[in-house]
Amino acid sequence: MANINAAAAHQAKPSPYDSFLARFNVAADIINLDQRFRDILSSPERVMIVNLPVKLDDGTTRVFEGYRVVHSTVMGPSKGGIRYASFVDLDEVKALAGWMTFKCALVGLPYGGAKGGITLNPKIRSTDELERITRAYTRALKDVFGEDSDIPAPDMGTGGREMAWIFHEYSRTYGYTPGVVTGKPLHLGGSKGRIPATGWGVMLTSLLAVEKLGKKVEECTCAVQGFGNVGSWAAKLLSDEGMKIVAISDHTGGYYNHDGIDVRDAVKHLKAHGTLESYHGATPFSNEELLAMDVDVLVPAAIENVITKDNANDIKARLIVEGANGPVSSDADAILDEKGMLIVPDILANSGGVTVSYFEWVQNRRGHYYSEEEIRDKTAPILSEAFEKVYNTHKEYNCSMRIAAYIVAIERLATGIDLEGNY
Ligand code: NAD
Repeated sequence: MANINAAAAHQAKPSPYDSFLARFNVAADIINLDQRFRDILSSPERVMIVNLPVKLDDGTTRVFEGYRVVHSTVMGPSKGGIRYASFVDLDEVKALAGWMTFKCALVGLPYGGAKGGITLNPKIRSTDELERITRAYTRALKDVFGEDSDIPAPDMGTGGREMAWIFHEYSRTYGYTPGVVTGKPLHLGGSKGRIPATGWGVMLTSLLAVEKLGKKVEECTCAVQGFGNVGSWAAKLLSDEGMKIVAISDHTGGYYNHDGIDVRDAVKHLKAHGTLESYHGATPFSNEELLAMDVDVLVPAAIENVITKDNANDIKARLIVEGANGPVSSDADAILDEKGMLIVPDILANSGGVTVSYFEWVQNRRGHYYSEEEIRDKTAPILSEAFEKVYNTHKEYNCSMRIAAYIVAIERLATGIDLEGNY
């Protein structure tokens, strides 16, 4: 019942793809983008729906619906994660695929954008069931995936384990191909630094934004929504930098401590119990209260559409750094802009993950592996340069950082489309 309600609540929120298009159109208007580029970039190249009959542990068969959307291959093979959640639908996957195109173009990676998903609640499926579902999904899309065509990665509800199954299932048909998927376990060709990469990028871009606001990191308080891969690493790394993390949350609710949360202790609790529920180091409160907290920095790192026109007026943070994809719906943009908030948009703030994924792919293809320090040294300038470019564009056009990020990405994509010619 809880899952059905969660899915219904998710459906009632604004369409993520509409949010993607709304921002795209604002940026396109500012730079007077030619209609040809508008048409190409506002429609995904390929949309695939696969129905996967899978035998469950109780002997019955259930058909799971899966998606893969390739938004663009203009800048290179399409790249994007696979999401397992009960609320996954085609609209969401299309938006996530579009954001991947813009993210990769923004940070200058030789990739286009894609995304995949299966509508299922991974928490109620056994490991064996998840393996069968993941292998069925891989078989259904084996002619789409490829190290030079479409390269999946983890997203919400998936991780190294699922990527290892995809790598193995794909290699059964095409031979050893580690570069077909990123986010693999280290043991199977994964990259050092991939697990914390997205949270690490959130930390880095938060520090750059705090500096632009003329603040010192040790003076800042922060609330982080979502305590999975992105949120927990962002919280830990920001706390290591001296920021006071006063609130964290997951799907069980929010947890607040005025004196600062001991993030390592919270991670230990999560590892032991699987959720933050009954975490003793903080007082429980709601996710809505977390979003409305009077903190310097708010990091939404869970799901889409948590800030909409309905609660945008309640937001008090001076800086929002979007760890999640699409946490702010487009109908909230004007309200937040009016309040003078600085927002580091998702396609910039969480681009550390795909950047290290790119280095994983490079390492797989060369058969030569880097240390974690080398990975950080290669990733940091890419993110810092993208941040500066977006910040300067935001000043140049007097627009939000989000629209500036879209402008930078659109200009690169339009140049690529133009150079390809009319075929
Ligand atoms: P995850 O599954 O590891 O963690 C998700 C977290 O959000 C969990 O703590 C979960 O309990 C919490 N959550 C779920 N529903 C919630 C709700 N309604 N309210 C509050 N918390 C809720 O996922 P992740 O990989 O950390 O991804 C989080 C977000 O970051 C997603 O939007 C994803 O697309 C984006 N992202 C992830 C990566 C990556 O490398 N993992 C890269 C780029 C962007």
